[in-house]
Order: sequence, then C-alpha cells, then structure tokens
Amino acid sequence: MSKDYDVIVIGAGPAGYVAAIRCAQLGLKTACIDKWLNRDDSAAFGGTCLNAGCIPSKALLESSELYHRAQHEFSTHGIGTGEVTLDIAAMQKRKDGISRQLTSGIASLFKANGVEGLHGAGCIVSTGEVEYTPREGDVKTLSCEHIIIASGSEPTQLPMAPFDGEYILDSWDALDLTEVPGRLGVIGAGVIGVELGSVWSRLGSDVVLLEAMDGFLSGIADGQIAKEALRQYKKQKLDIRLGTRVKGAEVKDGKVEVTFTVKDEEQTETFDKLIVAVGRRPHTDGLIKSDTSLELDDKGYVAVDSSYRTNLPNVWACGDCIGGLMLAHKGSEEGVAVAEIVAGHQAQVNYATVPSVIYTMPEVAWVGQTEEALKSAGVEYRSGSFPFSANGRAKALEQPVGLVKILADAQTDRILGVHMVGPYVSELLAEAVVAMEFGASSEDLALTMHAHPTLSESVHEAALAVDGRAIHALNKKKR
Ligand code: FAD
Ligand code: NAD
Repeated sequence: MSKDYDVIVIGAGPAGYVAAIRCAQLGLKTACIDKWLNRDDSAAFGGTCLNAGCIPSKALLESSELYHRAQHEFSTHGIGTGEVTLDIAAMQKRKDGISRQLTSGIASLFKANGVEGLHGAGCIVSTGEVEYTPREGDVKTLSCEHIIIASGSEPTQLPMAPFDGEYILDSWDALDLTEVPGRLGVIGAGVIGVELGSVWSRLGSDVVLLEAMDGFLSGIADGQIAKEALRQYKKQKLDIRLGTRVKGAEVKDGKVEVTFTVKDEEQTETFDKLIVAVGRRPHTDGLIKSDTSLELDDKGYVAVDSSYRTNLPNVWACGDCIGGLMLAHKGSEEGVAVAEIVAGHQAQVNYATVPSVIYTMPEVAWVGQTEEALKSAGVEYRSGSFPFSANGRAKALEQPVGLVKILADAQTDRILGVHMVGPYVSELLAEAVVAMEFGASSEDLALTMHAHPTLSESVHEAALAVDGRAIHALNKKKR
C-alpha cells in the first residue's frame, strides 16, 4: 500500500521548514507538522527563530538602538530633534508585524514548493507512522517512508527562579514586555542576556546581569574579543556581575527579590522584572509514543550519528534538538543535509565554519578557533589585528570601537579563526567564513582589494597585520 508521504518533518523552525522545502525540491512528497501557537493563539510556522527568537530580538535591537542614538548621538551630528519620545506599543507592533510577514512567507514557500504545511502536533507512533493532532478536527495517523525530527529547544528553567510569565520571565516574555521595567535583572550574561539586556537598557531600564562564570563569554568567544566587548557593555552601563551564584528569587509586593552570593558574600537585589537566560534545552515533549524507543543522550538531545540518523530506521533529526551550537543557520544547514541524505545523495555540514554573532552595538562576531583553543591544542599560529578606531568608515558611523583579529597557521598561513567586535561585524564576518570555507591563507585576504572607505578595510588590514605589514596601524614585531 502506498504511503501518505515520502517524508514527514516534525517542527517548522529553521531546521524543519528548510528540510521540508529541500525534500520537496528533491521530488519527495513532503508534509511538515508544527504545533507553534503565538500569544494571540494564532498558529505560525518558523519556530522559535521567527516567532520568539532571532527575528523579534533583532527588530527590538534595531528600534532600541535608534532610540538610543536619537537621544545620545544625533546632537554630535548637529541634528536637533526636540524631546525624543518612546511608544513601546508601536515598537512591539512593528516587531510583531515583521514576524508575521516572515512566518506567512514560510506558508507561501510551502505552497510554492508543494510542501503540505500542517498546524498541530506530531507524535511518532513507530517507524513510518506519525499521529497528527490538528488544532481542530480528528486525530489522524499518517504513514510515510521517512520522518525528520526538528522539534527545537526551549528555555532552561532554574528551580530556584521558576518562570511565572509576569515577574520571572523567559526570553519570549522578555521580548513582549509592554512597559520599560525600571530595574531589570537578568540571570545569565550569555548571548540572550546581553542582547535583551541591551534592548531594555537602551530603552531606559537599569540592567543588572548576574553571571555564574568568573569569565565573560568564556569558552565561546575569543578572550581578547570578550574582554573588549565587556569593556564596551560596561561603558553602556550594563552592570555585568561575574562569578555570581543565584540562591533564590522571590516575588514580593510586585517586585522580584533575588538573593545571590559573590565570593561567598550574600547579596540581595530587587528588580521590577527578572529575565532568566541560562541556556536552552532540547524540546522532545510529546514527540514520541511512550512505547517507541527513540534514543536520547544523557542531556535529553535526540541522539544521531554523523548522517543525522537516529536509532530508529528511517527516522532522522536536525537542529537544536540534536545539540551542538543552538543557531538557526546551523539548523538550516543540517536540514538541507538531511534532506539530501534522505533523497539518496551525499551531504555534510562543515562545523568548523559555523559563524557566531552577538547583535549588540558594538556587535561581536567570530568563526573558527579562538586564540585560547589554539594555545591549548599546541597549534603554532600568527595573529594580526586592526582597531576600528583607525577605520575612516567607523569614524563616519560614530562607531570607532573594537577590532578585527585574524589567527593563521604559523607554517601554512591558513586562516584558523577570525574574531571581531565592532560596528556591523555580523556583515563583515561573511568574508571570513567564505575565506575559511575556501581554505584561504591570511595572505589571500591581504592580496584582496577592499573598497574604501568601508568597515571591511579593517579585515584587510588585520590580514596584512598577520605578516606585520598593516599600513594604517603600527605592526607588532614580526615573529
Ligand atoms: P525551533 O526554532 O525551536 O523550532 C522547532 C519547532 O518545532 C517549533 O515551532 C515547535 O513548536 C515545533 N515542535 C516541537 N515539537 C513538536 C511536535 N511534537 N509536533 C509539532 N511541532 C513540534 N539563532 C541565531 O542563529 N541567530 C540569532 O540571532 C538568534 N537569536 C535568538 C534569540 C532568542 C531570544 C532565542 C530564544 C533564540 C535565538 N536564536 C538565534 C536561536 C534560534 O532561534 C534557534 O537556534 C533556532 O530557532 C533552532 O531552530 P530549530 O528549527 O531547531 O528549532
Ligand atoms: P548561553 O549559553 O549563551 O548563555 C547562558 C549564560 O548563563 C552562560 O553565560 C552561563 O554561564 C550562564 N548561567 C548558566 N546557569 C547560570 C546560573 N544558575 N546563574 C547565573 N548564570 C548562569 O544561553 P542563552 O543566552 O540562554 O541563549 C540560548 C541559546 O540561544 C544559545 O545557544 C544561543 O546560541 C542562542 N541564541 C543565539 C543568539 C545569536 O545568535 N545572536 C541570540 C540569542 C540566543
């Protein structure tokens, strides 16, 4: 008997919807089931990224940055505006509108590619069988050759500070605030902490970030870059407290009282709102019937081999639910790779060139290995860096802060890592990713002409500096 579909994808975030579209492009009859419901009870494709993550956060980062610049920078340009006012409802309406446009864009892409987009929950009954519970109507059992799990992730809860949606907030709640909190606490000074902390700080909150680790962005960003980013955030009055152990959070008289220790000394802070942003965990609730033995690893991620195969025949997984870097573009690349493999082709993802970006101002962006990782692996390397303070375009933008740093193999000159903090470095990073993907040397970048005046000239100069021949800055002595 023929099956209902060749492929059923469970989850329509950036991993799942991309996998579904690519499957359909490869000629496979594909359905994509997604249970996401927005706060107004509307169903939407796009997962965390489009509804409660990447896109809404970047919309608010842009609005809040403009508000901040209008207040603090316009006069430097000789522009007077009178009193700058804030309409949070309009700001949120714009943000929600962007998400809506993009999520309905996915529904249109599904239609155009012949993917059947199904709103509701998907549950794996067995290999080749998915129980579909639509928002309305009867539960159906759908048959298929292959199942791709792309069920994503959800915020990690702290037992001593459980989310209540009103005072103790997860990142989604924090994106939907309708008033600027006077004092805002954030547990976790990771990527979400500094991005959302920046949004509300620019809009007027006093923001305190309580971070457990003694180092800032330690283990993820290059040490020199993290140090410079921390310096810039502190200048912006983000109060980042490292080495903080949170003991408890209690709601009292419409405020949240947070108790924590720093160097064994107990302290208390009172906030109007508290965001908990201490990482995300895989979302697998309701994904499998209890008698189906899908293997999860010890942290609850769906266990897969290097071809994204789970332990169940013809059941595959990709995106946040399998772990690794929890990034939309990493999930999408995996989605494409799984689709290719399911269709019988070869595919792999190059995890050595996954770009990472923190969208504060200045932005932080990197690809490849950090200086600390190279040192601990005993790799001989040369480094070159260039400050944005010597870049004409950065000065014109009134953003002459930060630097670009390039790390290259001491023998072969192959680029091993590129790390940046500065204006719009999210956009500059693509050049570094392409260079590394093509196995370029720092000399290749140094020999490439860059337009003047652009921020990208800092990448060029950093590449020149690897060989001690930067033109617009003093060079370190050649090693
Ligand atoms: P998700 O986007 O989580 O999608 C999974 C989907 O599966 C959801 O719609 C869920 O409802 C659905 N689902 C789960 N189980 C079932 C089921 N049983 N049946 C049907 N549907 C199901 N990443 C970046 O790269 N850049 C950024 O700037 C960025 N900013 C972020 C900002 C915030 C505030 C947050 C929270 C995250 C951000 N991320 C960012 C991370 C990014 O959102 C995730 O890495 C990405 O969304 C993961 O994609 P995914 O498809 O694996 O999972
Ligand atoms: P994260 O891992 O980036 O940061 C969590 C921080 O919380 C860490 O610094 C950690 O040391 C700290 N922490 C953990 N437990 C703590 C505790 N009990 N007390 C105090 N601090 C504690 O996680 P996140 O910021 O929640 O983001 C989740 C995921 O979403 C990340 O994987 C990130 O990649 C992704 N994301 C990406 C972007 C982007 O690409 N720009 C933006 C937002 C989120």
